[in-house]
Amino acid sequence: ATLSLVTDCLFCKIAAKEIPAEIVLETARALAFRDINPQAPTHVLVISKSHHANAAALAEADDGLADDLLKACHAVAVQEGVAETGYRVVFNTGPGAGQTVFHVHAHVLGGRSLQWPPG
Ligand code: 5GP
Ligand code: ZN
Repeated sequence: ATLSLVTDCLFCKIAAKEIPAEIVLETARALAFRDINPQAPTHVLVISKSHHANAAALAEADDGLADDLLKACHAVAVQEGVAETGYRVVFNTGPGAGQTVFHVHAHVLGGRSLQWPPG
């Protein structure tokens, strides 16, 4: 289910502007802000304003929101100046993949060389 605000969700609170964040881009359904613990010169989180636990839940919602998020990630990369040199978009999905905040977010990482596989 999509709720406009899940009371105990950190990223719902950021989406509602109840908790401050360094916002870099906002669209009708997405918000992008800098990660508080950046792992690269550009490290921006792109979230849906509506609550979905992760990318798996977002995919099952099937309402075009995943498309919005991908386009927002691309716009962030262009705005941050990393679209030309290369960047990475990551959805950590589930605790085994390192997901710690259970509100869907894409990490947009760039500005340094990125190794593959990520480990
Ligand atoms: P995950 O591990 O769930 O894929 O990523 C969660 C990310 O959220 C981490 O990179 C972490 O640094 C970031 N984060 C956690 N709390 C906050 C916060 O209050 N503000 C911001 N801007 N980022 C946060
Ligand atoms: Zn949420």
